[in-house]
Amino acid sequence: MAHKSGFVNIIGNPNVGKSTLMNALVGERLSIITSKAQTTRHRIMGIVNSDDFQIVYSDTPGVLKPSYKLQESMMKFVMSALEDADVILYITDTHETPNKHEEFLETLRKQKAPIVLVINKVDLTNQPALEEMVDVWKNLLPAASIIPASALHGFNLDTILNAILANLPEGPEYFDKDTLTDRTLRFFTSEIIREKVFTTYQKEIPYSVEVDIEEYVESDKIDRIRALLYVTRESQKAIIIGHQGKSLKKVGTEARIEMEKFLGKKVFLELFVKVDPNWRNDENKLKRFGYIQ
Ligand code: GDP
Ligand code: MG
Repeated sequence: MAHKSGFVNIIGNPNVGKSTLMNALVGERLSIITSKAQTTRHRIMGIVNSDDFQIVYSDTPGVLKPSYKLQESMMKFVMSALEDADVILYITDTHETPNKHEEFLETLRKQKAPIVLVINKVDLTNQPALEEMVDVWKNLLPAASIIPASALHGFNLDTILNAILANLPEGPEYFDKDTLTDRTLRFFTSEIIREKVFTTYQKEIPYSVEVDIEEYVESDKIDRIRALLYVTRESQKAIIIGHQGKSLKKVGTEARIEMEKFLGKKVFLELFVKVDPNWRNDENKLKRFGYIQ
């Protein structure tokens, strides 16, 4: 059998389960997941290798209408993921009304790459409702292969994999076969901290935070990491730190435990908070954080 390979880009509205699905397909927790929209800010690759194929998945931020520069960059990641896809994995879920983002569906219909449409979170619905939904989607995206699944419960992942392989072109390996991702340890540790920020604080706070790994010193037994949390206002800094430093301590402890699991060794983690009113619109900062090339 000829070797197959290609870029399978995961696209869809916020919160439908894109990151959960990529992690499930890759078998590693590469992309952070929370119940809040817009958790994923970058395009993150996860690679699945076998003797016969190499699938390079990209998880992307949700489709959105940008209102600040950071979101413009997030949307650029989405559009570039459409352009270079060999297979588009479009994710919706059983909550979403299919006509939401009709404009984006129009863009989707114009793409040359084959589309595998996953209706995720089938654990939250029943058979008749699901069948109705499949019909609606057949009309909206007639060319797509439609697969009901549950990323969270691992239901129908093999069907998704088979649909991808059926659409994947023949080609060489793009990365060494032992490669899992294009991202560095530094990146994953900053993402782990960001996830804990999302799960610890309410409302708009997580959206105002960026994490900068200022220092990362690796050794055999322990990695020493110093991270700076940027916020946009003094009042947010107080909330991030919390009464007697309790909230920041919680973030630090939870992030450290997660990092130790991910890295398989001890971690010494220090967190500091800094106010920068304009980081989400500051080109230099956005470059430093990897949102602009
Ligand atoms: P993204 O914004 O599209 O990347 O979505 P996430 O992967 O961050 O998931 C958003 C929320 O949906 C999280 O709370 C997930 O646990 C949840 N979720 C993802 N897949 C499923 C699923 O198959 N069933 C259910 N019930 N929840 C899911
Ligand atoms: Mg995500």
